[in-house]
Amino acid sequence: MVAENYRDVEERIQKACERSGRKASEVTLIAVSKTKPVQMIREAMEAGAEVFGENKVQELCEKYGELPGDLHWHMIGHLQRNKVKYVIDKAELIHSVDSLRLAEEISREAEKKGIRANILIEVNVAEEESKFGVRVEDTESLVRKTALLPNVCIKGLMTIAPYVENPEENRPVFRTLKKLAVDIKKKNIDNVSMDVLSMGMTGDYEVAVEEGATMVRVGTGIFGERKYAL
Ligand SMILES: *Cc1c(COP(=O)(O)O)cnc(C)c1O
Repeated sequence: MVAENYRDVEERIQKACERSGRKASEVTLIAVSKTKPVQMIREAMEAGAEVFGENKVQELCEKYGELPGDLHWHMIGHLQRNKVKYVIDKAELIHSVDSLRLAEEISREAEKKGIRANILIEVNVAEEESKFGVRVEDTESLVRKTALLPNVCIKGLMTIAPYVENPEENRPVFRTLKKLAVDIKKKNIDNVSMDVLSMGMTGDYEVAVEEGATMVRVGTGIFGERKYAL
């Protein structure tokens, strides 16, 4: 089931690429395995999945320890500063940096480990109150300040689009993030690349790919619905 779903999502990404004149190799599928057991991750691995996204530090660390070392782990959820030290050497990319204080902590912990942390700046494009992320108009300023930190490397931008019935409704959100990345890239800021655009989830990743996503984060579409204990 999981392996089949994974291949189906890959195929849909491929088709979205064809529709928009892009190469499928430009898009990384991140299998969002939060709340799902390692057995399901292994099933996804059988279909070729290598990149997994988690939104809780503890869960990422546990799965990291249980599964083979050649997998790639991304931290996609809101990150508290006091937990940075646990994921800094496990997450290859932190998608959810939305404040200078968090970026500073990431840089400090990366320095201790003798590494440079790869990060994305999370942008709350739709300005939903319930969501984390900087506003579009504050993004360049945060990028400029963060770029001065010695042990972080800004790779691009991430957004979580609103929950919508019709994915077309999120097209303007994805377009806005793409345009913002292009605008910032033009400024040629040292230590900043805008090559990664992390946008699109189960409900809207095909539209996101058409609009230039280089990473899509798909959970439900691969692993099925999540059940949360209350
Ligand atoms: C859970 C989650 C996803 C995946 O959501 P689905 O709708 O299940 O595909 C993507 N991005 C983030 C940040 C998430 O927390």
